[in-house]
Amino acid sequence: MTDGIPRPKVALIAIGDELLNGQQLDTNSAWLSERLWALGWEVVNITLLGDHEDQIVEALAVQGRKMDLVLTTGGLGPTLDDLTRHAVARAMGVELVLDQAVVDWLTRLFESFGRTMNESNKRQALFPAGAAVLQNNFGTAPGFRIQHPGGAWMASFPGPPRELHAMFETELVPFLRATFPAVPEPRMASFHLFGVSESDFAAEVGPWMERAAMPRMGVCASGRVLKVRIEDSGPAGHESMRVFEARVAEFETRFAPAIFSRQDPSTALALGQLLMKESVTFACAESCTGGEIASRLVAQAGISDVFLEGFVTYSNNAKRDRLGVPQELLDAHGAVSGPVVEAMALGAAKACGARLAVSTSGVAGPGGGSEEKPVGLVYIGVAIDGYVQSHELRFPDRGRDLIRDWAATSACELARRALVARLAGPGTQKNP
Ligand code: ATP
Ligand code: MG
Repeated sequence: MTDGIPRPKVALIAIGDELLNGQQLDTNSAWLSERLWALGWEVVNITLLGDHEDQIVEALAVQGRKMDLVLTTGGLGPTLDDLTRHAVARAMGVELVLDQAVVDWLTRLFESFGRTMNESNKRQALFPAGAAVLQNNFGTAPGFRIQHPGGAWMASFPGPPRELHAMFETELVPFLRATFPAVPEPRMASFHLFGVSESDFAAEVGPWMERAAMPRMGVCASGRVLKVRIEDSGPAGHESMRVFEARVAEFETRFAPAIFSRQDPSTALALGQLLMKESVTFACAESCTGGEIASRLVAQAGISDVFLEGFVTYSNNAKRDRLGVPQELLDAHGAVSGPVVEAMALGAAKACGARLAVSTSGVAGPGGGSEEKPVGLVYIGVAIDGYVQSHELRFPDRGRDLIRDWAATSACELARRALVARLAGPGTQKNP
């Protein structure tokens, strides 16, 4: 990737008893790894430690000898079990000193909440001598960075992810860019695919996925979505860039029908973005997904411009009375059937005047399956401008939660594809 310039090395240390007893997943390190990779750094190892000062000192000493940078998260709070600042000072062989400017800032911050600062909060104004303060605009615990006599940099951040993310971007990234200016940021393209299994994908791309291939391709499957990364692992320069760009372009052409997003793995987000971009109104009628589609859509700011109504029609009567599904269809085919989801989608669109509507009905289990309609069978209906289509999906029985998750993911993407086809030309749709 680099013209003979090795990527600088970084170790991450996540601190907190809650990380070791299963109460809290270490998402901070995953987030940092991704950001650091994009900045051209190599994350060499991640350590999880409890609130145990000696162990933190030891880890800092070991990593400080081998790395260009060591980052810690957690343990900067005001309580006695927050030991990171003490551990860093010990590992560096320096004293902790009180920063009066930070004490003043904390005092004003508490006043602005209408509270007086506790004496214990003064701990948060203690820093290893020689450290630079990293400002925290979302909490009371500032971070700091300091250089080890051996040359390695160390920086400590508080544990709450929101605080860490903001501080990393504004307080550390500019510093890293200035201090390590020669690090070229690696080129990476990401794609999210729906409807392609991991094994079909591997067969299709063949040698592109070989370990030594340049550019390197990585794939990971999660909840019916394939996440594909193409990384430029060749030397910086013209030829490697050309090969990388050609591969990305060829990939995009070959997998165009399956790609629903570059950046984000959520099919609901891709659907919501398209609805908003094209100002297409939307409704959903959910049985087995029980509101999951609506919930994923409303997670997006601005969706109220296009999302008109979500129905959770769980019983047959609700499907009949709220959506106008004919009783004869329910009697003849059962609620989990193509004709019923088609009528549900049409009914939802009509009820609120939406152009696009999606519906779900399936057997999520664990009970309720039969030979004819096993657990994992899900029908999805999509109505657009009065045209309607249904899809039969057969998921493996991996439990109720996953089946409902897959159904919602699939429904959003099938709705998005119907809209894409419709926008491409009204002539391509089946008649109502
Ligand atoms: P403060 O106590 O002022 O919030 P702090 O630096 O002491 O800051 P911690 O007490 O260690 O932070 O953690 C606060 C919260 O941050 C934890 O309850 C946890 O929810 C979250 N957190 C801590 N470490 C991690 C981590 N590695 N990944 C995700 N969340 C974390
Ligand atoms: Mg803690």
